[in-house]
Amino acid sequence: MSDERRVPLDKIWARVRGRLRQEFGESTYRSWLKPLILEKVVGQQAVITAPNLFMRDRIVSHYGDGISIAWAVESENLITNCLIIVQSSTKSVVDSPNENLQIPYEQISNTKTVTPKSKDENLLGGPLDSRFTFDNFVVGKPNELAYAAAQRVSGSDDVLFNPLFLYGAVGLGKTHLMHSIAWDIRRRDPSRKVLYLSAEKFMYQFIRALRFKDTMAFKDQFRSVDVLMIDDVQFIGGKDSTQEEFFHTFNALVDQNRQVIISADKSPTDLEGLEERLRSRLGWGLVADIHPTTYELRLGILQSKVEKLGVNVPPKVLEYLAHKITSNVRELEGAMNRISAHATLVGRDITLESTQDVLHDLLRSYERRVTIEEIQRQVASHYQLRIGDMHSARRSRSIARPRQIAMYLAKQLTQHSLPDIGRRFGGRDHTTVLHAVKKIDELCMIDKNFQEDVEFLRRMLES
Ligand code: ADP
Ligand code: MG
Repeated sequence: MSDERRVPLDKIWARVRGRLRQEFGESTYRSWLKPLILEKVVGQQAVITAPNLFMRDRIVSHYGDGISIAWAVESENLITNCLIIVQSSTKSVVDSPNENLQIPYEQISNTKTVTPKSKDENLLGGPLDSRFTFDNFVVGKPNELAYAAAQRVSGSDDVLFNPLFLYGAVGLGKTHLMHSIAWDIRRRDPSRKVLYLSAEKFMYQFIRALRFKDTMAFKDQFRSVDVLMIDDVQFIGGKDSTQEEFFHTFNALVDQNRQVIISADKSPTDLEGLEERLRSRLGWGLVADIHPTTYELRLGILQSKVEKLGVNVPPKVLEYLAHKITSNVRELEGAMNRISAHATLVGRDITLESTQDVLHDLLRSYERRVTIEEIQRQVASHYQLRIGDMHSARRSRSIARPRQIAMYLAKQLTQHSLPDIGRRFGGRDHTTVLHAVKKIDELCMIDKNFQEDVEFLRRMLES
């Protein structure tokens, strides 16, 4: 591989990884996809290495299609074949001077190829997740409009608004609602042809059709459905030929009074890289947005999830999670799954402590910065002192001890240096702070009640 090739390939790979991260979420991405290394691309085959056999198999079965599609979309080039191999033992094969890679990979035990299943109906539409039903969707203020609109569309034989445009940030339930509509329509009337696919898959199909000079069949397939759903349409921004095709498909269906349902991460007006006529066309029907979750909705989702999993989780833990994990529902679910998997594995009850332990890496990223002022306020109020006592020169034990606790917590929970902490406690010397830290450590060792007190304060500050 020459250097000129390596640069663009690296870029493509970086973008493919970016897509996979968006598609599968941060924690999945980190555990499974981030460790993948692109070795080379030969013809229509990408050679990718995975760290071990176990991961390789899982990646092939769960994310293989996703990788192929992301690749096609990013490079506008078709990879018909993603070869995922295990690093160490195949090194010699990968390093083989034979650039044509005519080696029969399938015969090597630790390689596996991912070939998109052509002619399979699933390739045209995306598979539907059986968990994504209306029954499993928890409704709250942030998503009630989108939910109501989705129900209306699936429950009505007439086309009430076209398209239904659902938008909201990642992980808030757009795909879940779309799948729910598809399940519901199929259940009510199995003869109606419902096609759900991601915008990426749409692009992939289109690129494939172009490559195999099969665009007529492509058009027919899409234009003969009763309900077309395209998920994450922001991904076609900037891809002119695909946009063009999408626009025509869209118009053809709307003209025939077929229902179109679109999702995106932004409203039609805010979508970038979209042609004006498409942008305005997308906003013609009903535009329903899903707002970021509220505490109540997060708690509701956790409760329903716990019921389904059949695990015993103390309400305190659910409240803690709903409070802490505010980004999106996907992360919330991921956290819950990790906790319950851990509890099953070690055979111990789920507690607040075990939760914090299991999720420490995730929680750390949510940790807000605690300020020294907050620490002083919290400690003062806990011991019923005035904030001024944190700065004062008074030395009676009832004041000095809480002040030491506050210094100790400031050292533990903030990035401030000892001299800096000293200054903020009434201009004390850094040795005073150091002494406080040691003293509190010592007391924690010998006095269980005292330690619990300090722990309680720490938790209050961290939550
Ligand atoms: P998006 O498509 O908006 O990125 P998803 O539909 O994939 O988000 O949702 C992410 C995860 O969160 C899914 O597992 C989904 O089931 C779950 N989820 C999102 N919103 C809700 C909700 N209101 N009730 C139950 N589960 C939800
Ligand atoms: Mg989605």
